[in-house]
Amino acid sequence: MSSRKNAVITGAGRGIGAKIALRLAEDGFNVALNDLNADALEETAKACREKGVEADIFPCDVSKHDECEEIVKKIKARFGTIDVLVNNAGITRDGLLARMSEENYDLVIAVNQKSIFNMMKHCCAVMMKQRSGKVINVSSVAGLHGNAGQFNYSASKAAVIGMTKSAAKEFGSRGITVNAVAPGFIQTPMTDALTEEQKQAILNLIAMKRYGTVEEVAGVVSFLAGDDSAYVTGQIIEISGGLSM
Ligand code: NAP
Repeated sequence: MSSRKNAVITGAGRGIGAKIALRLAEDGFNVALNDLNADALEETAKACREKGVEADIFPCDVSKHDECEEIVKKIKARFGTIDVLVNNAGITRDGLLARMSEENYDLVIAVNQKSIFNMMKHCCAVMMKQRSGKVINVSSVAGLHGNAGQFNYSASKAAVIGMTKSAAKEFGSRGITVNAVAPGFIQTPMTDALTEEQKQAILNLIAMKRYGTVEEVAGVVSFLAGDDSAYVTGQIIEISGGLSM
């Protein structure tokens, strides 16, 4: 087995998760990549292998507890240790509360919130035996400050913050750190879809007067996954260009 450290990244088929996987591969981590879609994952795995590390794919639906238990067993068998877990997979089903269906509420909570329980429960069991590990959860500014039209999403991302702080307290003495990042408006297909008027209204609120990039999110995750953040735990790092000052 390789002497490199091993990182698990969920939702790594595209977007922020794919960029985090690539950045951690550049940092020298072998990567265990999860997503719903195996084809997209293969693309990410190939790009990571080109950085000289080992990369394998473990597709599953992270909202399903049994599926997560199964892939964590496979990842442990394949890589030996789990040194970093990045819980990045997430979805939106936006709409005003008055018109939000129960189905869209439950789905967003399952994918964005229960997935954190599912993956942390099994990965942290491995980390506890190692007496080391780093968990990085992807929350959102919507979880910190709320957002009209995102009742379900904000609830799920606020829960991620509570889970991060609780787990940091539970695992601190075992050498495991647990932190979260809270991205603001990041340049992705999601933000590309906004109207010019919406974009301008958002930019007016951002101190730096621009959107963030996926590379800028991956850079903060890289810091939290690396040795320089050894004494940082239970923290929520906002990556928003000064959206909420
Ligand atoms: P994205 O482009 O939609 O990527 C999300 C990835 O997660 C996709 O590859 C998706 O797979 C995967 N995924 C969805 N449901 C899953 C499930 N049940 N099991 C496993 N994988 C699943 O989104 P993104 O913009 O990169 O966002 C990544 C994270 O950052 C999310 O947690 C999001 O809430 C958070 N965030 C994003 C922004 C932003 O501005 N983009 C801001 C704040 C926070 P498929 O492609 O197969 O659906």
